[in-house]
Amino acid sequence: LGSELEALRNLPAVTRDGVRVPLMVNTGLLADIGPSLRSGAEGVGLYRTEFPFLVRDRFPGEEEQYRIYRQVLEAFAPRPVVARTLDIGGDKILPYFAIQEANPFLGWRGIRVALDHPEIFLTQLRALLRADEGLGNLRILLPMITDVSELDQAARLLDQAVAELREEGHAVERPPVGAMIEVPSAVYLMPAIARRVAFVSVGTNDLTQYLLAVDRNNARVAGMYDGLHPAVVAALHDLVRAARRAGCPVSVCGELAGDPAAALLLLGMGVDSLSMSAASLPRVKWVIRSFARAEAEALLEEAMAMESASAVRERLNEALEERG
Ligand code: PEP
Ligand code: MG
Repeated sequence: LGSELEALRNLPAVTRDGVRVPLMVNTGLLADIGPSLRSGAEGVGLYRTEFPFLVRDRFPGEEEQYRIYRQVLEAFAPRPVVARTLDIGGDKILPYFAIQEANPFLGWRGIRVALDHPEIFLTQLRALLRADEGLGNLRILLPMITDVSELDQAARLLDQAVAELREEGHAVERPPVGAMIEVPSAVYLMPAIARRVAFVSVGTNDLTQYLLAVDRNNARVAGMYDGLHPAVVAALHDLVRAARRAGCPVSVCGELAGDPAAALLLLGMGVDSLSMSAASLPRVKWVIRSFARAEAEALLEEAMAMESASAVRERLNEALEERG
C-alpha cells in the first residue's frame, strides 16, 4: 500500500465525479518544508507561526521573522501559503511572556493577545508583508475569531502596516485575509464574517474542544473528545452550508481534515480544500480519488441521522473498506 500511496503524489486530488479538492499541508518548522514539498500538496493551508516565538527567550524582531517567513514563502511559491498570525495563550505559553489564568483556553489567546498588543501584531504583519514582496503567495489567517469587530480591528492594523511599508519604499501588496472558525460563536456569524474576509479555515481541534467543553489536552476526558461527535458534525455542516451560501471559500485545517473517514464526510459537506500534515496527505488523496462527491453526500446524510461518534466512524470505515 505504501508504494501505491506514493504513486498518488503527482496525481490530482479529484473525485470520481470530477470535483477538485485541493489538498494542502500544515507546517510550522522550517524542517517541515522538505517533506511538505514532497507530499504533493498544492500549498500550505496552515502555517503555524508560533514556533520561532516558542523556542526563543524574547519576541523575535521583524528582521528575524522576515528571514524565516521569506524561506517558507519562497519554498512554496507560486503555491499559496496561509500564514496564521501568532496564536499564543491556551496551551502555547511563551516563557518570556507570562499569562497566568485559571482558564487559559477561555482566556487571553490568539487574536485577543494580538489586538491588545498591536506592536507585537504589527511587527509580525510587517515581516510577513515584506517576505511576500515580489512573490504574492501569502495569505493571512486570523486565529480565535469570536466576533467580527476583531476582524475589523485586524484589518485596520494590516492597512496600517501596508501603508507604513509603502511609505518606506517597499512594494508590498495587501494579501487576502481569512478567519479561523474555531470558536463556536464564529459558526453562527458566517454571513457577517464572509462580508469581511476572502476565505475561512476551520480549526476543528479547537472547535471540537469548545463545542464539547472538553480540554483537548486533558487525558482524563480524552475519551469524550471526538471530532465525529454528532454535534461537531452538525456544526461543521451548518458552517460549510453558510459559507457556501455567502460565497466564501471554506477549508478545514484541524486534525479532522487528515482523518480519512472524516475527510469523506467533509467532502460530502462540500468543503473547498483540506489541509493536513504531510504524513496524512497521501491517504486522504486516495479517499478523494476513490469516491464521487455524490457518494460522500449520501454518506453524510446517513451520518447526520446517527446519534454517536462511534456509529458515524463505523459507517465511514465500512465505506472506506469497501473501496479498498
Ligand atoms: C485548530 O484549532 O484546529 C487548529 C488548526 O489550530 P491549533 O491546533 O494550532 O490550535
Ligand atoms: Mg486552534
